[in-house]
Amino acid sequence: MTAFLLDMDGVLYRGDQVLPGALEFVRLVSQSRHLYITNNPIRSPLQVAEKLSFMGFTGIVAEQILTSAQAAAAWLAQQKPGFHYFAVGADGLHEALSAAGSEDRYDADYVVIGEGAGLDYESLTTGINLVLSKDATLVATNPDASVDAWRKEGHLVLPGGGALVAPFEVATDRKAIIIGKPQPLLYQMAMEHLGVGAGDCIMIGDRPDTDIAGAAALGIKTALVRTGRFPRGMAWPGGIRKPDWDVDSLAELMSEFAGAGVFQ
Ligand SMILES: [Mg+2]
Repeated sequence: MTAFLLDMDGVLYRGDQVLPGALEFVRLVSQSRHLYITNNPIRSPLQVAEKLSFMGFTGIVAEQILTSAQAAAAWLAQQKPGFHYFAVGADGLHEALSAAGSEDRYDADYVVIGEGAGLDYESLTTGINLVLSKDATLVATNPDASVDAWRKEGHLVLPGGGALVAPFEVATDRKAIIIGKPQPLLYQMAMEHLGVGAGDCIMIGDRPDTDIAGAAALGIKTALVRTGRFPRGMAWPGGIRKPDWDVDSLAELMSEFAGAGVFQ
């Protein structure tokens, strides 16, 4: 039976708006093995579940949500149980890391940079010096250059995890280990969690450069929905394999999946 890995922003909703077919798709998928995986480390899984419930999605609980912050914490605990870290990022990152390791701004094993608020001159200085003088490993939750936000005043572009880790990389001349899509770690943690292999999974996402590219590289089947970052009409980015499904909405994907017997 197929297992589903689903991105959320640009797939289930956009801003505060639920996308066509999303509520019904979520109900259908809930009968299969599935996990919602997101590069966004800002909210904890519980906060994400609450947001989804507020939007009208039913039956999504925190355990079905894997954020890049959670995956980072789980991966670091595998690398070094009881690890010490210094983190720069939002509450979701600090919460995930503190459940698995100990914060230590003087002798950290890892300097972890997450998307969201938190970066300032002092935290940048602390992080750089931990990497250079304590040989801490630089880790970033996700590589997105920028991400979209919808505020009262309209659409806004926010710095992504890639933009926020860049000053640490420049100052230390080290490359960060990236947890989120399109790197393999978030997918691997998700498959481990579900107890499935790449051949059992379909990844559903809205971004060719992260959702689709990363899954395809691992041999996971892919479905692109054109409701987020990559609307119909944009030129396909070079070097990325075309998705197995390419649809305008989850409503359309649902009927394609039904036709192909994917839900059986
Ligand atoms: Mg997305």
